[in-house]
Amino acid sequence: MKVLVLNSGSSSIKYQLFRVEDWSAIAFGLVARIGESEGELRLGWLDAEGEPREERATRAVADHGSGIDQILAALRDQGALGAVEELAAIGHRVVHGGPDFSAPVVIDDQVVAKLHALIPLAPLHNPGHLAGIEVARALFPGVPSVAVFDTAFHQSMPPSAYRYAIPEALYSEHRIRRYGFHGTSHQYVARRAAAVLGRAPEGCNLITLHLGNGSSATAIRAGRCLDTSMGLTPLEGLVMGTRCGDIDPAVLIYLSEHLGYDAAALDHLLNRESGLLGLCGANDMREVWRRAEAGDARAELAIEVMAHRLKKYIGAYYALLGRVDALVFTGGIGENDHRLRARVCAGLEALGIRLDDQANAAGASGERAISTPEAQVALLVIPTNEELEIARQALATVTGASGDSNRS
Ligand code: ADP
Repeated sequence: MKVLVLNSGSSSIKYQLFRVEDWSAIAFGLVARIGESEGELRLGWLDAEGEPREERATRAVADHGSGIDQILAALRDQGALGAVEELAAIGHRVVHGGPDFSAPVVIDDQVVAKLHALIPLAPLHNPGHLAGIEVARALFPGVPSVAVFDTAFHQSMPPSAYRYAIPEALYSEHRIRRYGFHGTSHQYVARRAAAVLGRAPEGCNLITLHLGNGSSATAIRAGRCLDTSMGLTPLEGLVMGTRCGDIDPAVLIYLSEHLGYDAAALDHLLNRESGLLGLCGANDMREVWRRAEAGDARAELAIEVMAHRLKKYIGAYYALLGRVDALVFTGGIGENDHRLRARVCAGLEALGIRLDDQANAAGASGERAISTPEAQVALLVIPTNEELEIARQALATVTGASGDSNRS
């Protein structure tokens, strides 16, 4: 059997097809610029020798229906999918599940209606997900579609972590609270970290750091999320590529009163022009390091602000957890940037955090420990794999197995 994972955005669909018996991704790719005169297709697969191959094309893709049709045709041509009946489930990534979803769910008309009702909380993401979901349900009526939410893992947060200290009615009537994101990634690396430590996830207290263009930190107690750095939207928390993370809300009041910013301008400023980009003019971490090495003081400061914020979150989550078994790095920066990892860990020895400089800088890939043997807190690098996690959760949901999902 196979599981197809779809990540549908407003103008793109990313996909991966997994073979359940060994969870290998046997086909993968994307259809982008849907609705434009020239769509972009990247259609990859593993050939008979298990080597990755890719076909690229540009042609018009009118809508999400046509996009999924073209993906299906490619899967058939590549020999990755014979009949639709081979699909045990289709897993859909959904960014925002609001307060309604704390676990993956088989999609029916009621779920679709709830996802529509959540659009105000995720206007940039949920409409694209819904387009992909509607098309998949129409094209594959016999295959269960499962929604897997970025927010679900964080639904175990207690009210003390998810409530904002603002009037109660804004929470009860408008659902304004902290939700958290990247949940699928935090859950995946937490499970892998437990395996590396040789323990059950329920036996582990972890701080997981997902550091990419978007970044978030999560405190995990006994396998469940206790707190996370993103909030109502993915803007809160750490310093990111173009997002400011934590900021005094009065800055927004000042900007609107004195500099004429309206809601759209504030949104653009804080989501697209801030973070590393705002501090030093570059949002790609590799470019930030290049500039810092060339003596650019603004780039050096951007790295320091980012590392400082990370240390604050590690300290805060340490205080909440009481005992930390491992600090886990993942995401494009977390997995690859040994210099940033070193900056973050420096000075945290009193917390039992001791980096093995050689292991950290070794340039290895894959799951690995980078702490010294005597360190109290294991430092782990765990490459994330959100698509695999979605596939496993989708299958577990349709087969009724609870092993990989986080039911609460
Ligand atoms: P997204 O959040 O879009 O999934 P990724 O997780 O792919 O992003 O992370 C992208 C970030 O990772 C970029 O800032 C990129 O510069 C950074 N990155 C990737 N490889 C390296 C590396 N070798 N060293 C430092 N940063 C890296």
